[in-house]
Amino acid sequence: MHSPQLAAGNVNSHAGISKSEEVILEDMAVIIDGDKIAKDIRNEIKEKTFRLKKTQGIVPGLAVILVGEDPASQIYVRRKKEDCGEVGFLSREFRLPVDTEEGALCAIIEELNRDREIHGILVQLPLPKQIGTDVVIEAIDPHKDVDGFHPYNMGRLFTGDPYHQACTPRGIIELMDRYELPIEGKRAVIVGRSTIVGKPLAMMFLSRHATVTVCHTRTQQLPAITQQAEILVAAAGSLEMITADMVRDGAVVIDVGMNRRENGKLAGDVAFPEVSEKASHITPVPGGVGPMTRAMLLLNTYRAALKEKKKS
Ligand code: NAP
Repeated sequence: MHSPQLAAGNVNSHAGISKSEEVILEDMAVIIDGDKIAKDIRNEIKEKTFRLKKTQGIVPGLAVILVGEDPASQIYVRRKKEDCGEVGFLSREFRLPVDTEEGALCAIIEELNRDREIHGILVQLPLPKQIGTDVVIEAIDPHKDVDGFHPYNMGRLFTGDPYHQACTPRGIIELMDRYELPIEGKRAVIVGRSTIVGKPLAMMFLSRHATVTVCHTRTQQLPAITQQAEILVAAAGSLEMITADMVRDGAVVIDVGMNRRENGKLAGDVAFPEVSEKASHITPVPGGVGPMTRAMLLLNTYRAALKEKKKS
């Protein structure tokens, strides 16, 4: 049995945290500090952006489009703008009324596709019903699709030659790498098969030589499968559905879920207190995967700017 440990002790030196506590922590769950890793990544991007601007005169540019006034989406868009400001990117924000037509949205996207100051385009989801999400995603130039949702980018991930990778699963891989958590040869179980999390993560784990199982609502005997996981990822959107009896002793547990409790507080798909007694490493909600998603958006935008430079 493990007991939770608030310090992120097993992190490699890259993450700026000492290894000196490793012995003490040997038998305790490490709480993976996504806030800290995301901050480290933003600092790295900020430095690189400064150099890119100084040496090449290029400033990475991100355009974020929000249709309607969904309160959660407004918060996400505001944070993305703040992130851009922090690392020195150009950011452009488009706030469109809830009754915007699909054609009008696609016209803005086409203009941004041609705009040389903009390297990344993000359309905040979900979109109002009159707009086809697939149509809009496919309207984005795949090279500017920093969310990694365009079929071109999904296809490249599936063929093992990724271009822009979806931010949440990419953030999970980055977290694991920075904590030096091995993926190769491990048995990974993902609960959730969405196009934005479960499916791309399965491909990323496969390309890193894990043995991957993806579960969903029709999966039979889910606990028997999750109990086998050396890496268990919960991405179902179901409050605390992963309980301690579903977790193998010493598993790495990654919680993607973002659910609201009745009191309005954010909580994950994992019953954190009991599972952290069994896991070797665990991500909290908030402060685990969420900040990494935003950091990966910045990284994709920075890389898009670099690639644009190489083309011209
Ligand atoms: P989604 O599109 O609703 O997909 C949920 C998936 O989980 C589906 O494949 C569903 O199965 C499966 N599922 C749901 N309940 C289940 C259960 N009881 N047992 C087994 N499988 C179950 O959700 P999503 O967009 O992937 O998001 C999942 C969660 O992650 C949400 O809480 C979301 O807010 C959060 N999220 C967080 C971030 C972040 O940055 N932290 C980013 C994206 C999403 P079926 O396919 O059979 O319906």
